Amino acid sequence: MGEVRRMGMERPPARFVLMITAVFVVACTAYVAWSQHGYESSVEDKALAEARTLNTEIMAAWDYVSASQNAINYNSDGKYDFKGIYCAAAGKSIASRFTTESEGYVIRYVRENPRITSGIPDEFEQAALDRFELERVSEHYAVAEYEGRRVFRYASVLVMERNCLGCHGSPVGEKDEMGFLKEGMELGDIGGAASIVIPLEQYEEQARASMRGGIAFFSILLLVVLASVNFGYHRWVSAPIRQANEVLRKENEAKSDFLALMSHELRTPLASIMAFSDILSESAELRGEQERKAVREIGENSLVLLNMVNNTIDAAKIEAGRYSVAREEVDVFDVVNEVFDLMEPSATKRGVSLRKSLAADIPILACDYDALRKILVNLVGNAVKYSENGSAVVVRASYSPDAEGRLAVSVSDTGRGIAPEDQKRIFDRFERGSAQATSVSGSGLGLFLVKSICDELGGDVTVESKLGEGSTFTVTLPARSCEDGQ
Ligand code: ADP
Repeated sequence: MGEVRRMGMERPPARFVLMITAVFVVACTAYVAWSQHGYESSVEDKALAEARTLNTEIMAAWDYVSASQNAINYNSDGKYDFKGIYCAAAGKSIASRFTTESEGYVIRYVRENPRITSGIPDEFEQAALDRFELERVSEHYAVAEYEGRRVFRYASVLVMERNCLGCHGSPVGEKDEMGFLKEGMELGDIGGAASIVIPLEQYEEQARASMRGGIAFFSILLLVVLASVNFGYHRWVSAPIRQANEVLRKENEAKSDFLALMSHELRTPLASIMAFSDILSESAELRGEQERKAVREIGENSLVLLNMVNNTIDAAKIEAGRYSVAREEVDVFDVVNEVFDLMEPSATKRGVSLRKSLAADIPILACDYDALRKILVNLVGNAVKYSENGSAVVVRASYSPDAEGRLAVSVSDTGRGIAPEDQKRIFDRFERGSAQATSVSGSGLGLFLVKSICDELGGDVTVESKLGEGSTFTVTLPARSCEDGQ
């Protein structure tokens, strides 16, 4: 049940999902940064257009009142009667009304040495007046702070025209019709600035809304892409792989079962061959030397065959996950002696002597007797097989009663050695290294089995070897002493 659920919910690798998410986050950040940049420049353009329109509208009223002075001040009987409705008064009162009635907007008129205090320029306006004077520009604008708010500020130059001179022209000091002293200005002189403040809240809100829309769009797109990737991965990648794996697993299982069955069936006739060769060898002194040799050959080869069959069965069990480990009392001396008894005939035949050096303090261990025997049969068998006539194979064993208890067994020979590039792969299944090309027979299963059994026991196997000088295989296994209850 758990297996089915796991397979049904298979997801694309986390790194892949992270990578897609990262791409989207980067794209979204770039979008926000780019929008921000676009917003900054477009806000200025929009606010400038709005300020120019406002300025033009009020100046139009200003000009209209200026052009209508005669109509305003001459009565129907042709007599001049100044009514006090002049251009600056009209422009300023429209501006002041607009300022009080609109949210955040300010329009006012400023100049140096103004006639009334409300016309005194602030820092921005003074800068505008300076630029009008020195650089002869007609506008000055910027995004700036105004009364604690971020606003767009605009100033437009006011130039003395003919109809302005009646109040501001010559002679200097003479009173104009409103009672103000004339300043002696001339045509074309700079008479001040129209100063306009445009609030930016509306534009900022627009930008925030568009940014929120962009982020929401990217988030939804990310979800859609992840869902599609998830679906696509499941449908077109993981499901076919899983199906193919399932087919392979079944085929492999069938092959392993077949091998195990065949090997098992081989053991029965092999056992009787070995039994009869034993019987024959016991009565061998009655026969000639040639017959005795033939009987010995039958016995030894049957042993080799039995070892191969056993290895095949164990390898199939390990592959199928059916290899079980026993916990029993094991005397390492017994195991080594049994392996030596088994290997003695083939070692003698090859002129190889078997020696052991077992630490006397190795206790009785809680371990798997059969597993340890199989490991040593394969290692000692190989050491004999790959050694020269006259050499020796030494089995060493020691025990360290550390936290867990640890048994170390090594098998050394002075045989042909193993090339460095082969030392790792010889533990793979059916891997024979350089022996493949020689006449030494083998299946390439022995070391695979040694390594697999060590893994099952929670241990490890390593090799140290030099070509032409020999090899040492060392097996380390966790094994508690049965004697002191460690
Ligand atoms: P095989 O049946 O070929 O001996 P193994 O799995 O037992 O298979 O060993 C794999 C290969 O490792 C061997 O074919 C051989 O090349 C190399 N090998 C194993 N033990 C020794 C050794 N003691 N000396 C030299 N080569 C060895």
